[in-house]
Amino acid sequence: HKPTVVITGASSGVGLYAAKALAERGWYVVMACRDIAKAQLAAQSVGIPHQGSYTIMHIDLGSLESVRQFVNNFRASGNSLDALVCNAAIYMPLIKEPLRSPEGYELTVTTNHLGHFLLCNLMLEDLKKSSSQPRLVILGTVTHNPDELGGKIPPRPDLGDLQGFAEGFKKPISMIDGKKFEPVKAYKDSKVCNVLTMRELHRRYHESTGIAFSSLYPGCVAETPLFRNHYPLFQKIFPLFQKYITGGYVSQELAGERVAAVVADPEYNQSGAYWSWGNRQNKDGKSFVQKVSPQARDDEKGDRMWELSAKLVGLA
Ligand code: NDP
Repeated sequence: HKPTVVITGASSGVGLYAAKALAERGWYVVMACRDIAKAQLAAQSVGIPHQGSYTIMHIDLGSLESVRQFVNNFRASGNSLDALVCNAAIYMPLIKEPLRSPEGYELTVTTNHLGHFLLCNLMLEDLKKSSSQPRLVILGTVTHNPDELGGKIPPRPDLGDLQGFAEGFKKPISMIDGKKFEPVKAYKDSKVCNVLTMRELHRRYHESTGIAFSSLYPGCVAETPLFRNHYPLFQKIFPLFQKYITGGYVSQELAGERVAAVVADPEYNQSGAYWSWGNRQNKDGKSFVQKVSPQARDDEKGDRMWELSAKLVGLA
């Protein structure tokens, strides 16, 4: 019987190639996507064999109600759960006004962080029942970390003292720190929350559940549709910049392989780790556990982020 993995945002980019790599390793993949038809086409286009290797289930991470519905549907399907990959994300660098979730929360942080925060908390129950070594993996990114070259480009992420979360995160509030709306910063803030969530999950639940919680930065996957909401010229130049200037470029296939390794390979069964690869663009670049940014390793901030997020998603 195959181990089962749920991957959010598997209709495109890193998530799609991770689904392919895991199916090829003999996993049963639940592609958790907001657009079923698109996910179906995507799976076919990269050649994931249909028979017995994957299924597609609906989730909209920008809606907390939809996340809860997904969990109910997943449980009703009777599948066991051996790994969860939180991968879906939106990046909307050019919008001037914040978009809102049905609950009224700013949409980038809801999709990338709050939706996944709720999903992780609900699915701990399912992971606990796994008969193998369950893992929960959250996609991080270099842009969360101003200590690295790729994280130095402004605006820098800054959760402040999470005033925006504390005040309810609804109109007129749109940023976690309660300051002026800045869509690029909202994305980076959400990724800091992703890393903090992984570390808090580890601190709170690793010992009692045996689940391994980890994050990774697969490299700069400059050709994924993540940048589809950017200027067309940016979309053309960015991959070249990453290939020839920063050296951070990796292909979608390689990024998918790296996610699959963290989910499935014995050497990645380490909880609390943030994985990165040396010589990022190099297929043989070695992985190592990297120190996360000062904000993302701030335990007090992590604890406050956890408590406030739990309130916002209705868990506290
Ligand atoms: P893509 O835009 O290619 O893929 C994002 C996926 O998330 C798509 O499947 C998209 O669905 C899905 N998604 C977006 N919003 C929702 C929603 N509300 N509900 C459900 N699914 C949703 O991006 P990438 O593959 O590049 O990014 C994947 C992850 O990798 C992200 O977490 C990103 O932060 C991380 N990452 C990316 C890097 C890069 O350089 N690209 C670098 C480091 C990390 P749909 O197809 O319907 O739009």
